[in-house]
Amino acid sequence: DKDLLSFDYKKDFPLLAANDVAYLDNSATTQKPACVIEAERDFYLKHNANPLRGLYDLAMQATDIYEDARVAVQKFINAKSEQEIIFTRNTTESLNLVAYSYGLANLKPGDEIVTTIMEHHSNMLPWRMVAQQTGAVVKYIECAVDGSISDEAIDAAVTEKTKIVAMAEVSNVLGRLNPIAKAISAAHKVGAVAVIDAAQSAPHMAIDVQKMDADFLAFSGHKMLGPMGIGVLYGKKALLEAMPPFLSGGEMISFVSRDGQEYAPLPHKFEAGTVNAAGAAGLHAAIEYINSIGFEVIEAREAALTKLAFDAMQNIPGVHIIGGKTAEEHKGILTFTVEGVHPHDIAAILDADGVNIRAGNHCAQPLLDHLCTGATARASLAFYNSAADVERFINSLSTIRERMGYGR
Ligand code: PMP
Repeated sequence: DKDLLSFDYKKDFPLLAANDVAYLDNSATTQKPACVIEAERDFYLKHNANPLRGLYDLAMQATDIYEDARVAVQKFINAKSEQEIIFTRNTTESLNLVAYSYGLANLKPGDEIVTTIMEHHSNMLPWRMVAQQTGAVVKYIECAVDGSISDEAIDAAVTEKTKIVAMAEVSNVLGRLNPIAKAISAAHKVGAVAVIDAAQSAPHMAIDVQKMDADFLAFSGHKMLGPMGIGVLYGKKALLEAMPPFLSGGEMISFVSRDGQEYAPLPHKFEAGTVNAAGAAGLHAAIEYINSIGFEVIEAREAALTKLAFDAMQNIPGVHIIGGKTAEEHKGILTFTVEGVHPHDIAAILDADGVNIRAGNHCAQPLLDHLCTGATARASLAFYNSAADVERFINSLSTIRERMGYGR
């Protein structure tokens, strides 16, 4: 493991190179390598024009940069066609697009949407809103105390009434890999579609939408080294073609007459208005950077760092990790409590020692209620973190109870 962790990736990240912090809030957003910042800047510096409209050279350059990014995303998740890649602002917008466009068109009273109790609010509230409007019902698959979801729980929840199954591949609180293969096959057995929230998996592991057979899959650029404001929705072509547009206006039509319109072909039907081409260029650079390292190295480094942190946390009195009982059950995410110390105080004390973590409900309040815990603290790792970051976190965490006035 020493060899694996010896390489310094932080030099590729200007903010980390310039700031002496242990940045352990990667699940909220990752830092950006210089190549991503440069790609976004380069677009505005050298190629800025409104893509997909102009017929002059500069506008065609902008269009090419934007569409090349789409092909990079297509390859990144192994989609069959680039027409299946819709650019959005983030995971939240991608999931809302599916809920409103597919959900409103296909749900009727009594239909069921099956999701899990551990979802991020953005894979929960859109389904609830669409259920309210259509008379459909949202049902939750519960997880055990260790965060696991059993095959039996999936089989019990998915019935002939189920039209949509929505599940995160990795929970942003528990960091556990969910049984999405089982959820997708259960959905398909009853003719339902499967929607996968890949916000916390896309940065950490290879995704193959064809092998997975997901119907829809969503993720955010900013959580995988890319810029904020660019996200992705993958959808199977036949499904996207049959769906009505989500937003309407410019760019998403073939022609408009006084009384009618014809929508543009995929993917532009779902990309109304001026797009975030610079953001797409940044995401393209992020994908190339990730590819240059490879998920084998990324996963191995993150597993080694997770194990370092997990094992050390076991030995600190009063510290309790939520969810899985082994490091392997946490994909870089360690959510925890410290007895007698409010998570906001944990975060403030760690911050004083130069360690950045998240405290709060992590946009997953129903899960925290289900696990009978309130607010928690969360440390989340990326491959560019170092053993020294983990050590700094552990050293600070070890002193918290004492600094809050508790005896040793
Ligand atoms: N789903 C999961 C699992 C997440 O972790 C997040 C971000 N914390 C989201 C969805 C929402 O992502 P965004 O804020 O980029 O839309």
